[in-house]
Amino acid sequence: MQLKWLGSGASLQGRHAWAVSGLLALWLSTVGNAPFWWALWQLPEMQGARAHLGLAGLWAALSLLMWAFINAVVWPWWRRPAGLVLLIVTAVTSYFMTIYGVVIDPTMIANAVNTNATEVRDLLSLPMALALILGAGLPGIWWWRSEPRPLAGWQRWTHQVGAVLIGALLAAALLMLVFQDLASLMRNHKSLRYMVNPFNTVYAVGRLARAEQAQRQQPLQVIGQDAVSRALAPSQAAPVLVLVVGETARAANFSIAGYERPTTPQLQALQSQGSLYYFSQVQSCGTNTQVSVPCMFSHLGRTGFADSSVRYESVLDVLQKAGWAVLWIENQSGCKGVCDRVPQADTSRSQHPQLCEGGECWDEIMLEGLSERVAALPAERRAVGTVVVMHQMGSHGPAYFKRSPADKKKFLPECTNSALPSCEAQALRNAYDNSIAYTDHFLGRVVGWLQPQARPTAMWYVSDHGESIGEKGIYLHGMPFNMAPKEQTHVPMALWLSPAMRQHWGVNDACLNAQGAKPWSHDNWFHTVLGSADVSTRLYRPEMDIARACRN
Ligand SMILES: [Zn+2]
Repeated sequence: MQLKWLGSGASLQGRHAWAVSGLLALWLSTVGNAPFWWALWQLPEMQGARAHLGLAGLWAALSLLMWAFINAVVWPWWRRPAGLVLLIVTAVTSYFMTIYGVVIDPTMIANAVNTNATEVRDLLSLPMALALILGAGLPGIWWWRSEPRPLAGWQRWTHQVGAVLIGALLAAALLMLVFQDLASLMRNHKSLRYMVNPFNTVYAVGRLARAEQAQRQQPLQVIGQDAVSRALAPSQAAPVLVLVVGETARAANFSIAGYERPTTPQLQALQSQGSLYYFSQVQSCGTNTQVSVPCMFSHLGRTGFADSSVRYESVLDVLQKAGWAVLWIENQSGCKGVCDRVPQADTSRSQHPQLCEGGECWDEIMLEGLSERVAALPAERRAVGTVVVMHQMGSHGPAYFKRSPADKKKFLPECTNSALPSCEAQALRNAYDNSIAYTDHFLGRVVGWLQPQARPTAMWYVSDHGESIGEKGIYLHGMPFNMAPKEQTHVPMALWLSPAMRQHWGVNDACLNAQGAKPWSHDNWFHTVLGSADVSTRLYRPEMDIARACRN
């Protein structure tokens, strides 16, 4: 049956080019947009004859628009590969929208462009293969085999341009008819506009390319030329700061923040000893690594960063200008430009027998040989101060079960399928919670490295963004910021201080505990890091430094 249907592509030999492109358009607008139609169909507004008529009008308009689009971009000489690319893009985005509840916007495309082999491997699954075969493979074979009736040069042009004009005009007329209902739908359900395949992808790629083009034309802007570090007394040992940049950790699953399962015993033990402060209301800058990491290390803040087409140096450049020794340790997929001009170490490809498996390493790898790495930084800089940034693998999904070694797993059984909705909710929660518990263990070990040092030491920890693990059918992260659920933007943050650092800062304990309950965001990171290092520059804004008011 299936083969016969495929074979029937041959019967399209000699069909009018309009019919062949029309069939592809129908496939894409209907099957290729199944997640969009399904989302629309489930809306409370979709009741009654008027709504259904509007839906039919929208479907016809989208089909016509698709037909015009195909005739505009799928020119005859690259007809076959271009159609195939459309089918593959539509099938892949449909799969991600259906399985993870994500939508396609410029930052989601930026994520996809900046992914690496292990991240892709984590996403592959049997359901994904099936979706590709059904959504792109079978129609792709038909498309490749179909051969429209050949037309003379000028005829081909008039047919093609004619299809674009007719399709676009008819689609516009239909959209005008349903405009009123459509406009209110799109206003009330903003995510719908990111769900129309393949226009969501085309739009996002265009926006991203334009933004990157604009950035490339601008030279990197230098900041903090006036930065100086507070002079230490000759007897004073220079401080060491560790900044842990977490990955995909959401505040909701930290027991130190009230979560019912014991995911963060180490942090809580340090807190009850009085050496750790937890900040319970911190908002991320973005909903993915690609945005959050460069944004939090920038002086622009969330809105300034989103609007800026200019690249600036990061707070690490400023620290370096103030004479500090800086080291970025990478255990994930790169620092997104933040660490370009400072010494770096990449542990993600290490071969450690206990800490690495399958081409990835658990975060404790960053502590291996750490003292030697720090000792290798310039001595004259270390005499001013040292800041070590550790970029975690953290809770990177969807393969949460890979984020904790077997002997550290507290919650079993774990979901081991990357098509997350096919897992039991409890097994998924277990896998995610194990990754948080492992981060807690890792942070405990970072403190264990800092504590015995005969100098003032401190650790700041903050996650880059949160994660959805099935709430309202949404998984992973990367929702456009303004419509992102709280799970994706409410992140954990903690500060640990050694006794020597408490003295160095002249810290007011009650004040820091009070700061813990106030609302903060990644916008505060730049200033808080500078303040923690006692570096002054015109860029530093004391009111933005979380700990400033509590230092003497
Ligand atoms: Zn991230």
